[in-house]
Amino acid sequence: MKVGVLGAGQLGRMLALAGYPLGFQFCFLDPTEDSPAGDLAEQIVAPWDDSAALARLAECDVITFEFENIPVKVVETLAAKTQVCPGAKALAVACDRLNEKTTFEELGIPTAKFAAVSDEPSLRRALDEIGLPAVLKTRRFGYDGKGQQVIRSADDVNDAWRGLGGQELLLEAFVPFSRELSLIAVRGRSGEIRFYPLVENEHREGILRLSRAPARDLDPALQHRAEDFARRLLERLDYVGVLALELFDVDGTLHANEIAPRVHNSGHWTIEGAQTSQFENHLRAVCDFPLGDTSARGPTAMINCIGHMPPAASVMAIGGAHFHDYGKLARAGRKVGHLTVCADSPADLEAKIAAVRALLEA
Ligand code: AMP
Repeated sequence: MKVGVLGAGQLGRMLALAGYPLGFQFCFLDPTEDSPAGDLAEQIVAPWDDSAALARLAECDVITFEFENIPVKVVETLAAKTQVCPGAKALAVACDRLNEKTTFEELGIPTAKFAAVSDEPSLRRALDEIGLPAVLKTRRFGYDGKGQQVIRSADDVNDAWRGLGGQELLLEAFVPFSRELSLIAVRGRSGEIRFYPLVENEHREGILRLSRAPARDLDPALQHRAEDFARRLLERLDYVGVLALELFDVDGTLHANEIAPRVHNSGHWTIEGAQTSQFENHLRAVCDFPLGDTSARGPTAMINCIGHMPPAASVMAIGGAHFHDYGKLARAGRKVGHLTVCADSPADLEAKIAAVRALLEA
């Protein structure tokens, strides 16, 4: 079975690492040379819409993506020739914040109040409707907190417009969340659905720093509600593969923030911390195999390495710690790897998180 993947970043690399034991082969397409997945598998270096490159990729048995900022047209072109999972419908919703929010609303999934903004008068109208504080976001191409600005008072409006104006935007109400959660879900071609336990995420400067899995003090009712929201999305989008649903927990009430139509950073803990990793389950889903057990093996945390990797030997000296280097050049603000710590108890987990964080900050 040969899997074609649009995007050859670290998510693609981890898909290949999960797929080789299953006997799969991979071919990646990415315009950037020397991408993390290119170390491990064939990589076609070409623009997303290069027709010769797409024809080569279409020779694979199935195609998936690890990046949502691919033109929807590219997925449609490939889908005319071979199976693409998840499909163009999921990509079109997930790559545009307005489509995403509208879909949440249509499915009865609570989300922050929002309004589309295309020029200064529509921003003023949106501010009147939504009130302050609010968050102004680009509809497309935002990641790791880029392409968004919080508007706390009327004084911030001009700055936010100067920073983001000139493209299609969305204004949404600021959600006073107590914590951020995410749910990783997977749906197979047969319609079978499985969910991982909710994960609790800490962000700094818009970048995910730490995920604790399962989320602390996880109320089964909260898990059930998140699963219900994700199920509605998976079914509406005829989804096949892993989907991440990011949520704000406001004192026990869930508000959907966004979806990622792919394996997700907050699911990296599953490599060592769950019975079946999100990467293996994504491949099982798109290749039409039975899905694997999504339960956690025990308390687990994932810590992102931003800008640089800590010394490998020091990490490996910590019992239950695992080192993942994506082979990327070190650069400020860039995700270059992650560390996972597996523990026997919540207290043991916190001790290991502190030990690993000290290495990152040293
Ligand atoms: P996003 O790109 O939408 O995932 O946003 C990145 C981060 O910004 C989120 O993980 C939150 O920490 C914060 N954020 C985004 N939208 C909101 C909002 N409406 N209210 C409060 N915080 C937000």
